[in-house]
Amino acid sequence: MQYMQRNADKRSDPRLLYARAKSVISVLLSYNPSITIDDPVKIARFAYCDDYHLRLKQMLFELIAQIKKRYPDFNARPFVDTAPISDKRWAATAGLGWIGRNTLLVSPRFGSFCNIGEIVTESVVDIYDRPLENRCGSCDLCVRSCPNQALRCIDGRYMLDASRCTAYNTIENRDLQLPEGLRTGGYAFGCDICQEVCPHNRHTTVFVQVDEKQMKRLQHLASADEEEFNAVTSHTALGRISYSQWLRNLKQAAPSTPRQS
Ligand code: SF4
Ligand code: SF4
Repeated sequence: MQYMQRNADKRSDPRLLYARAKSVISVLLSYNPSITIDDPVKIARFAYCDDYHLRLKQMLFELIAQIKKRYPDFNARPFVDTAPISDKRWAATAGLGWIGRNTLLVSPRFGSFCNIGEIVTESVVDIYDRPLENRCGSCDLCVRSCPNQALRCIDGRYMLDASRCTAYNTIENRDLQLPEGLRTGGYAFGCDICQEVCPHNRHTTVFVQVDEKQMKRLQHLASADEEEFNAVTSHTALGRISYSQWLRNLKQAAPSTPRQS
């Protein structure tokens, strides 16, 4: 979170990262899996597939190459979470969805189980979509479902208190212990609770096929030793945490699992 505060200027103005930037093209990639892990130890859905940073960036490079074939002067750079760009805000500005009370981008077509990427280009793109109206209405299911009350309304706007959020703590927190009293709802990596309850996710019909072999490996991760853990997670978002963080998370998420310290 300090990283985000330090780069607040660049997040709102990509020209501070790419001086000749004129337009931002926002892209969504659904990761809503066709099957979910039915296990007491839960893993957030975005970690079921290969790490999206590499996958989506490769897709954006290919998209740039395709556009360049048609418009040879099109110069651009892809960004996927690797630079301080406010991806949710750009996607909302581009009309791909709205920022829900769960503080995530909610797409009317894909829901919120999406990764966001950007193509920042030197070209002026003068055909663009308008921002959508916020369609949360009077719903506050995400706010009420959070076991840690991490979604808070400040001056009429919902904000995430990352220090209370399971997703933040199980991934980004490097301390030996998770905060006392953090309620994980069984999640040992990330947390999907405030997305699972969202009506816009329940009604989506877009699903991504997941590798069933990888799903089985993930299901057995709670009893994996360090070597197995590293082998299964190396190409996934789970590779962002160390084995010791995994054991720390397991201890809080599922105290009765075989390995917990
Ligand atoms: S990810 Fe989990 S802990 Fe974080 S705000 Fe959502 S429900 Fe709460
Ligand atoms: S659960 Fe309700 S309030 Fe939360 S993001 Fe979805 S529609 Fe909006």
